[in-house]
Amino acid sequence: MTPLVDGFGRVADDLRVSVTDRCNFRCTYCMPAGGLEWLPRSEVLTFEEITRIVGVFVGLGVRTVRLTGGEPLLRRDLHELVAQLSAAGVNDMSMTTNGFLLAAKAEALAAAGLRRINVSVDSLLRHRFAAMTRRDAFDAVMEGLRAAERAGMAPVKLNCVVIRGTNDDEIVDFARFARTTGYEARFIEYMPLDADEGWQRDQVVPSEEVLATVDRAYPLVATGTGIEPAQVYRFADGAPGSVGVIPSVTAPFCASCNRVRITADGQFRTCLFSLGETDLRGMLRAGAGDGEIAEAIRHAVAGKWAGHAIGAAGFTRPERSMSMIGG
Ligand code: SAM
Ligand code: SF4
Repeated sequence: MTPLVDGFGRVADDLRVSVTDRCNFRCTYCMPAGGLEWLPRSEVLTFEEITRIVGVFVGLGVRTVRLTGGEPLLRRDLHELVAQLSAAGVNDMSMTTNGFLLAAKAEALAAAGLRRINVSVDSLLRHRFAAMTRRDAFDAVMEGLRAAERAGMAPVKLNCVVIRGTNDDEIVDFARFARTTGYEARFIEYMPLDADEGWQRDQVVPSEEVLATVDRAYPLVATGTGIEPAQVYRFADGAPGSVGVIPSVTAPFCASCNRVRITADGQFRTCLFSLGETDLRGMLRAGAGDGEIAEAIRHAVAGKWAGHAIGAAGFTRPERSMSMIGG
């Protein structure tokens, strides 16, 4: 099998699949206060359509699939999709979720083949969590984390979008939380994908600064796993847990990016910041065969651009915001 390779020699083998554009939170850095208009149900891929498309990607060498959204746990019976994808040959499946509905669903998801989970937690302070997500859901999310752990999903990772002047005073608290729970605290640089278009460059807290802040409190050692764009560190004193950073703005990993994405309405995107999409749903519903779909995917990947160039002159924001693309 020839792997999916773009014009710069990068192999695309990590697929993010958005299963819904709906969400039960309205995080300030992602969605407007009034919410977004959801896609009509008929436009959203069915589980069978998702499985068929992912099956084509598996045939093209993709083995790693991350379910995302919107909020993936809003999709009813998601464990059934997980089971279908496992049967289709996906052997490394993970999910990014806000965790609100996780407590009740973790066990069924793990039993169906979900191995790993990232839960978005931007503050360990209840009032700030509520302000950032526009939902008072801190306790439910903490319960979800514990349920994921009990269900054997490991390692549990926390995604924290660090925003200057909002939650950057909690960096050490997150590291301490990682040490006491064994979780990985992942600090993500704030990207210009908020629906309100309020992103300002000076709100981005550089990952280097995050690492220096943690290192002063708890010295860190690089792990050099290098499997993901995240740079991961363990604690020098041997405490459990770890710290990761995703420097998408200050040190983009575009040169080695292996990610591609499918939106909830079946549009294929070769970059978070892509300005164009390939309509796989349209092809599927028009009766295209797997070979034709594979060819369209190969063609799109071959045309993948070098990088997103946030901050450079001429950078253009994509029309869709993060909740519509899937993070
Ligand atoms: N609803 C799920 C959640 O919040 O985990 C999955 C979808 S969400 C769009 C995926 C990830 O994107 C989350 O970890 C979220 O924190 C991150 N995200 C959303 N908007 C972002 C932004 N403007 N910059 C950086 N990360 C962002
Ligand atoms: Fe919803 Fe996730 Fe976006 Fe927050 S980050 S609004 S939970 S999609």
